[in-house]
Amino acid sequence: MPSFDISMIIPLAAVAIVLLAVIYLTRYYYRDLLFGPPVDFDGDSYVEIGLYPGNCRAALVFTCDDVNAMTKPEKVVKVLNVLDKYETKTVFFLIPFFKGRYMMVKDSEVVKVLKEAEQRGHEVAQHGLTHATVRRRMLFLGWGKELGSLPYSEQKRRIKKGRKILELAGFTIHGFRSPAFSASIDTLKVLDSEEFLYTSDTRIRPIMLMSNKRFCESLYYPYHPGGLGILDFTNNGDYFWGYTKLGREDLRSLKHRFNKFYERRGAFVLLSHIEPLSRGKGLKILEEFLKYTQTKSLWKPNLRELAEWWNAREALFAVSEIKKNTLLIRLEKSSDYTLKNLTIKFKPNIPAQSYEILDANGALLKKGKISESVVLLDV
Ligand SMILES: [Zn+2]
Repeated sequence: MPSFDISMIIPLAAVAIVLLAVIYLTRYYYRDLLFGPPVDFDGDSYVEIGLYPGNCRAALVFTCDDVNAMTKPEKVVKVLNVLDKYETKTVFFLIPFFKGRYMMVKDSEVVKVLKEAEQRGHEVAQHGLTHATVRRRMLFLGWGKELGSLPYSEQKRRIKKGRKILELAGFTIHGFRSPAFSASIDTLKVLDSEEFLYTSDTRIRPIMLMSNKRFCESLYYPYHPGGLGILDFTNNGDYFWGYTKLGREDLRSLKHRFNKFYERRGAFVLLSHIEPLSRGKGLKILEEFLKYTQTKSLWKPNLRELAEWWNAREALFAVSEIKKNTLLIRLEKSSDYTLKNLTIKFKPNIPAQSYEILDANGALLKKGKISESVVLLDV
């Protein structure tokens, strides 16, 4: 019988670690890939229609996970102070019944702070039910992955119960994010059937050597995963967790990632977690990042606003033609949601002096001179 060569342990362990790392970093490989903004109309030879309102180039939303009944309200207030200073909205993803022990309840201090934040345009959404798994896991791996491995009916029960708890605490819930990004296609189907407007269940970690580049360089826009009605937002981060000891390094890679979205007119959803964000350099990095984005042309909605807008924008179609020195643009909108401050830009060298924008029935919405170059209107 051949004896076991002890010197093989280290190389074998190294191979195992590399394999685990590859599986971990490429686990979204089966998911959808996008090539360009998934909208019915982006532009033609005469006009370009903006992806966001008010002639903004890209969108920025901050999100903060794991707020629960045990969260100290001061921590939420500190985060809000930074965001309000830079007029950036956040979505707090709340754990309704943390670990099956701590329930979000009406009139508790943390709920009061969150209700006030809602008044200023921030949003709360749902983050699972307990954020704890009921299945045995290998060592500590996946302890917070509450949903994906559970049967459809159990996922549905948890999602409905969580939403009910948050409603009883006084919130209206439109969005969802699975604890530790544990959604399966069944999770998305439950959310879709329960008429959630959006989910935020895909995560791009700070890009590392073995990241799945093809995937990471695809999802810059909201889209409908698996062809469902629900919208999914891709998250970036967490850059506030302290992957590196040097805050500068986190900030540099965060800016780099943001710039890629900005170049492609993407919707940049930034991920954070309330506890690590409140410790160490988290808030300082956030503030420096927001300062950096101040010079950019950004729309800063919450995710509900972004989802409503996107649902209407993706289904907007336009036809343009020139008749007797006038550029006629007919807009066909199939959503009931109003596109406020829709941006229409004229391309250079249009062989016409004036424009007329019409609705699908041919009624005049706006007219003027091509020399205006950018037109904003409500559709
Ligand atoms: Zn979480």
